[in-house]
Amino acid sequence: MTILNKLNRSNFIRLQDLLKIEQRSKYLFNSIESNNNHWYQDGKKPISTANQHHHHSSILNHHMNDKKPDDYSYGKRDYHHNNNNHVVDQQCQQIIRGRLYRWNDVLFSSTFNEIVRLDSSIIDDITQYSLFREKNFIKSFDKGFFSLMPFVVRSLERLIDLVDQQMFKIGAQKIQMPSIVGKHLWLRSERWQLSGQEIFRVNDRHQSEYCLAPTHEEVVTQILASCNQLSHRQLPIYLYQISPKYRDELRTKFGLLRAREFIMKDLYTFDKDEDTAKQTYQLVSSMYENIFRLLELPVIKTVGSVGTIGGKHSHEFLLETNLGEDEMYTCLNCSESFNAELLDDINDDQQQQQQPYCLNCKSHHLTTKRRALELGHSFLLSDRYSKRMGAIYLAEHSNKQIPLQMGCYGLGISRILAASVEYLSCKYQQSLSSDSESSAQSSSSSQSQSASTLYDSASNSLFLRWPKLIVPFKICLILPKRDSKEDHGKGTEFSMHLANIIRDRFGEDILIDDRSNLTIGKRLLTAKTIGIPFILVAGRNIIDVRPKFEVFDMYNVGDDSIDAKQQQQQQGRLMTQAEILDHLNIHLKHFQLNKD
Ligand SMILES: [Zn+2]
Repeated sequence: MTILNKLNRSNFIRLQDLLKIEQRSKYLFNSIESNNNHWYQDGKKPISTANQHHHHSSILNHHMNDKKPDDYSYGKRDYHHNNNNHVVDQQCQQIIRGRLYRWNDVLFSSTFNEIVRLDSSIIDDITQYSLFREKNFIKSFDKGFFSLMPFVVRSLERLIDLVDQQMFKIGAQKIQMPSIVGKHLWLRSERWQLSGQEIFRVNDRHQSEYCLAPTHEEVVTQILASCNQLSHRQLPIYLYQISPKYRDELRTKFGLLRAREFIMKDLYTFDKDEDTAKQTYQLVSSMYENIFRLLELPVIKTVGSVGTIGGKHSHEFLLETNLGEDEMYTCLNCSESFNAELLDDINDDQQQQQQPYCLNCKSHHLTTKRRALELGHSFLLSDRYSKRMGAIYLAEHSNKQIPLQMGCYGLGISRILAASVEYLSCKYQQSLSSDSESSAQSSSSSQSQSASTLYDSASNSLFLRWPKLIVPFKICLILPKRDSKEDHGKGTEFSMHLANIIRDRFGEDILIDDRSNLTIGKRLLTAKTIGIPFILVAGRNIIDVRPKFEVFDMYNVGDDSIDAKQQQQQQGRLMTQAEILDHLNIHLKHFQLNKD
């Protein structure tokens, strides 16, 4: 899996879409051509590609005119300011199941979701369960390795955007380092000897040894060591990457929560002395807390142990949930939180059978041990790596060579993505199953819900909840059932017209549920279970004199006076096109990353 930078990524997707659509269009054009020879008035087959294109567009127009009057001109929009777009847009018109869509419409039928068979292995082993596997959003053919399907990738890309933005705010630069790292670097940091079997080790054809990197302290420190005459004026330097990492977990668990290949954001900071390194540590910690706040996750910053990474001290960012494998205490006196292992180990060292105590205020008044999942980790490394690998800078006056003061900071990106959906969906599910009066109470204790209890509940109607800022799609549009009176009465054209306006005005991709052979009820349930915030249904009122859509505001951003249960049972609100645009204008911002 290659994570390209933002620009490349979007280009890559566009290119892929173009190719896919072009191929499909070619196939369809060919089938139209063979069935519709009467379109060629001169009776000749086109010979050159240029001619072909000319004829194809005329076929398109004839075809459309034949099927339905092109009242709303979708697919033939006029781009005054960018003529190239116009050409591209025309070339990418696609005909699917006899209907014409714009090339950048995202059709449900092309998201690949329901033609993939459900992963039956998760039924046999509860520890391999995950909501994403349940929903067919990820696939696994080797334990701990996952393919991510379109919905998850869209959400992942939004999460990466969010993290990139936060990193940019503190002045960090994005780099990319290789996944395979030579043994010689790991020998110099002494991690080759210190690390056990959790490291994947590989040999090349010359029997040189490498590892699949779980983190990149050695490589990034070597990059700094390779700088000539690094000056104090260039510090601090913050470098980060977002890339696949590898760990040979003994027990993989819960899908992306404990995988052997995972996507991590790792930041490495280089400061001139301990004081500035500590300031950096505070800066990054508060930035991490901000990221978790944006993702609606009540993550607790917890004192952790430094483990094999080494350094002076470290913090873990823990989410309280039974899905995690860590445990934590919180001091009831000073409210500092600790990884339970750290406090229990100290007890063992002192050979005393006493209650664990707070390392901050020495109080024995701690909460009981609680299960938690580690989503982020920070280390103040001091000169543990820079000294060994010769990453130095020249001091201000003396020209003395001084080792850089390092920090390293990880965020488990793919784990955060899965954990946030597990956590928020679980919380939402509890608010649905409880009485409306006690829903507030139960949602606060939702972290004690385990995967198995989730799994026991009626899995077909499990409603996913994503953090608002990383939903894969904000809007889903459900087209009329094929050959219904709404379909024949221009309901489909009117819907596509609205989709175009929304996209042009708000710049949002819309998920268009084009599976018009299915009933509206079935497709509405799908959109609800996927966790789409705004669902627009072209129902029976779409052919009124003033056409109206049924609008479902599933995240309650328009009206938080009703609870989740009422929300699920409610009929959609009937809204005209203008009312929908007003509604989105006000409420879409809850789902958009603030760009300032
Ligand atoms: Zn304390």
